[in-house]
Parts: sequence; C-alpha cells; structure tokens
Amino acid sequence: MATTCALCRRVVPDERIDDSQVVQEHHLRPEERATSPTVMLCRPCHDQIHAQFANTELRDKYDTIESLRSADRLTGYINWIRGTNKLDISVATSDHVRERS
Ligand SMILES: [Zn+2]
Ligand SMILES: [Zn+2]
Repeated sequence: MATTCALCRRVVPDERIDDSQVVQEHHLRPEERATSPTVMLCRPCHDQIHAQFANTELRDKYDTIESLRSADRLTGYINWIRGTNKLDISVATSDHVRERS
C-alpha cells in the first residue's frame, strides 16, 4: 500500500517501500511511547524532526502533526523535500538538540 508522509505529504509508492525503513512510525510524544499517537513519516522527515527537536520539545510543543508542519524550523526543509523524490538525506543534528542533550 502506498503511504503518504504526514509531514511533507509526499506519497511513497509501493515499489519504493522495498526497504522497510523508508516509511517510519513517529511517536508524537516520544517520551510516552505507550500512549502516544503516531503518524507515518518518510525517513527524511523522521530524521529531520529528531535532528531539529529534542524529545522534550516534541512532547511539550510539537505533539501534533499540524504543529510540526507549521514549525519555523521545518519550513525550509519541507519546501525543499517536497520538490525532490529523495528518501534518504544526510541530516546534521541542530544546535537546538545538541545544547539540550
Ligand atoms: Zn516526509
Ligand atoms: Zn520519531
């Protein structure tokens, strides 16, 4: 079944889901995995979210897909990824995350 990424809204077609890690489940409240709602994300979006936000930030401020989609820190990324068909990107962990961990 083709999967639509909840963040960038790109459709990942069946033939590209040969690698089971291409689409990943993201827990919107990462520190409460047992009860957290989840969304399906393409791998670049999932990597990007965790590179940009510490788990505590995700839990406190970005625990809905709408809040992530409108986050300033992701705007440039989303605009960029939507114009590509990449399912693999290299992501540098941002200072926001590094400072906190
Ligand atoms: Zn995506
Ligand atoms: Zn996640």
